[in-house]
Amino acid sequence: MSAPDGVGSLKKRARREGFRYQMELNFGQKEDKDHFLARLDRVKGSLATKRRRPVDNMELLSHLLDLAEKEESEVQSQDTSSSSAMLNTSGIYAGDGDEEQPLFVCEVSAFEDLVLGMTRWCTCGMVNRKMISYRQSGHVIRAEFQCQSCNRKEWWASSSLLGSRYLINQKLIHAFTCAGMLPSQYYHFCRLASLGTVGKRYTDSVYNSKGYVAAIESCAEASMTKAIDEIKATSEYETDGEWVITDARHDSTANAYHTTVPCLSGSIHKIVGCVTLSRKEHTCAQTRELACTKEVLPLVMSKGLNVTEVAHDNSPSVTSYIVEELQLKNSYDTWHGTKNVAKAMTSIATGTKKRAGITWYPELSDKRKSTKTHLYYSMKNCNKSPENLRDSITNIVDHYRGKHSNCNQSSSCRRPGYAPSKKLITDPNAVEAYTRKLKQTLIYVNAESYCSCQDTFWVESFNHHLLTYLPKRIHFGTTTFRMRMNIAVMDWNENVERPHTSERYIFDI
Ligand SMILES: [Zn+2]
Ligand SMILES: [Zn+2]
Repeated sequence: MSAPDGVGSLKKRARREGFRYQMELNFGQKEDKDHFLARLDRVKGSLATKRRRPVDNMELLSHLLDLAEKEESEVQSQDTSSSSAMLNTSGIYAGDGDEEQPLFVCEVSAFEDLVLGMTRWCTCGMVNRKMISYRQSGHVIRAEFQCQSCNRKEWWASSSLLGSRYLINQKLIHAFTCAGMLPSQYYHFCRLASLGTVGKRYTDSVYNSKGYVAAIESCAEASMTKAIDEIKATSEYETDGEWVITDARHDSTANAYHTTVPCLSGSIHKIVGCVTLSRKEHTCAQTRELACTKEVLPLVMSKGLNVTEVAHDNSPSVTSYIVEELQLKNSYDTWHGTKNVAKAMTSIATGTKKRAGITWYPELSDKRKSTKTHLYYSMKNCNKSPENLRDSITNIVDHYRGKHSNCNQSSSCRRPGYAPSKKLITDPNAVEAYTRKLKQTLIYVNAESYCSCQDTFWVESFNHHLLTYLPKRIHFGTTTFRMRMNIAVMDWNENVERPHTSERYIFDI
């Protein structure tokens, strides 16, 4: 795709005739180069069709120079002689290359206008118009029609104007941006469909000077305000306030340029605030999470939300900020609390035959996964009391020893006819080792922060959702990054209403 056949033919020609001139073209980005080459190919193709033979680079350039000079002279005198030359282009529609014709996008109302215009009497009293030329600009075509009796010319475009630009072109930028498509994907899609493309510069000017970015931002802001109003309308809010979840997201692991901390509502799981800091604003990637958190929580509270508890993954500096500065209840999320449990159990649950009963215990070998489930169960059923949580964790050992007197009433082992699915623990050394491991878990040690069983599953899920809009392998400029983030926030807030918080779902990720 990169080496157009023109280069080859130029070389052959040069070799044949001995005169050669090379031109260097510099492109800022590969996309721009591809775009340019594709345009070149397109123009060359249409020229070839018109002349009914292949056109080389030399002819192509000469033709383009002719056009430029002609355009200059046309501005000064709008004579009719140029029109007769343009009429020849009608030949482009004949022949069998129909499938290669470019496509364009047309508004229904513009099409109606065209039909109406074509059937209207011309000032000369005839109805005999013919399309004499068209120009594609982005996805829109602008065609010129001429009356065959009096040579009067009329223009028609397939799109109306919004501001000084075609509405359709702006609408398609809006569409591909909101769909989370990357500019390169948009470009390739349009190129393969011969649908016309708008260039990077055009897109950037719509984003920036036409106020698109600002509009997206205010829409996202409105979406978050609406979410806050929704929380305030719940019955629990009046008495308990709201608990929120925060989690940091870096835009790439090796070279984090942007760090984002979204703030999710614990009750309705919608985003209520979101702060992104770039390297320019905060140089150190390691402390950027804290800096973002320090912005996002006051921001959410300034919007009138009574935040009473913040859940996040285990980050000490964020914890001290929440507890000491904001004086709010701090929670760790359950997912991070349990994710290493099975791994930590490995040393006492597996080993060589020789060391069995010494460093590891066969009776524990089937309990790695189930311990995790038990810990979840304990967090969920401790009634937000750290003491209950600790008791419940140590009771896991008794449960596996067949002593169920302290097990939760709702637990299946309290029902008659219960048959344990796991091996009973009888070895006192195994009991001791298992108890010791359980007491080392993050959840046991930090029971105060785990007893509310707040999980940041939703924020992890939001981060996953973000990949559609902000894939980590692509670097975005800060303006584009924030815009795409805002779109992701709106998309999330509109689609998160799936009411469930089951543990099983958490295990699935
Ligand atoms: Zn006429
Ligand atoms: Zn039990």
